[in-house]
Amino acid sequence: MSFLSPLIQRTLLRSTTTRPISSLVTSRPMHIQSIPMWEGSGNNYAYIVSDDKSKEAVVIDPANPPEVLPVLKEQTESGKIKLTTIINTHHHHDHAGGNTEILKHYPLPIVGGKDCAKVSNSPPHNSTFTIGDTIKVRALHTPCHTQDSICYFFEDGEDRAVFTGDTLFIGGCGRFFEGTAEEMHKALNETLASLPDDTKVYPGHEYTKGNVKFGVTVSQNAAIKKLQDFANSNKETQGKFTIGDEKAHNVFMRVDDPEMQKATGKNDPIGVMAKLREMKNAS
Ligand SMILES: [Zn+2]
Repeated sequence: MSFLSPLIQRTLLRSTTTRPISSLVTSRPMHIQSIPMWEGSGNNYAYIVSDDKSKEAVVIDPANPPEVLPVLKEQTESGKIKLTTIINTHHHHDHAGGNTEILKHYPLPIVGGKDCAKVSNSPPHNSTFTIGDTIKVRALHTPCHTQDSICYFFEDGEDRAVFTGDTLFIGGCGRFFEGTAEEMHKALNETLASLPDDTKVYPGHEYTKGNVKFGVTVSQNAAIKKLQDFANSNKETQGKFTIGDEKAHNVFMRVDDPEMQKATGKNDPIGVMAKLREMKNAS
C-alpha cells in the first residue's frame, strides 16, 4: 500500500468499511414469477416462488393448467426449479380449479383453505413452513371473501412478499361473498396491516385500474392519484406496491380517514368498510 497516497488509502479504507454487510454476504432473495391467466377476462395471476439456492419452489393458485403447465414443465424439466408444493389462497374455481389437472402432472401436497379442491393440508392461522433453506412462509387466515381465504406471508432475509388472493388487491379488496364488513376490516386493517410496511403485495387479480377508478371518486389524496398514474401507464401492478403503499392509497385500508367517513356518511370503521364496498359494487 505504500505506493498509494495517504488520501487514496483513506478513501479505500472508507469505501470498504462503510459498505453494508448485506452487500458483502449476498444471497439472492427469493425469486417470484407471475403467470398471467385469462388475460382480458379474469386477469388472474398464478405465481411461482423459488429459493435460488436449493431450487425448491411452490406454485400459487395454478388455476388454468393450459397456461401454467407449459411454464412449470419448462422450469422443472430444465432443472431450474424443483416444485414441492401447490398453494391455494381460497377455494374459488379461478384459484383452486386447476388442482385436479395439475396433480396429474405433479402429484404434490396441496396447501390451502379447507374448501379447496384436493387440499391435503390446511395450515392453521399464524402457522409457518419453509421453502428451501431460507424462505419462511406464514399462513394468515383472512376470512370474508370466502371463509377459507388464507394470505401467505413470505420472508427471505430482508425480502418480504404477501400473496393475498382475493382478499387484498392493489388499491382494493375482494367482495364479501362469505363474510362481513367486520371480517374484512379485521383481515385488511389488523391482520395484513400488521405486516412490515415494506412487504410487497401480490394479489390474485390485476384489478388496479378499476379499483383506482373507484378510489378517486371517494378520495383525492396524493397517493391515490399517484396510483392512478401508475395504473394508467403499466399493465401489471403486482409486486410493485407494498403494505405501506396500500395503507396510503387503498380506500379500504383508510377506514379511519375523515375523508372516507365523509364520503360514506359513517364514522365507525366497520360502517365505513361496509358502505365503501356497497359503493364499489354499485360503481
Ligand atoms: Zn375469489
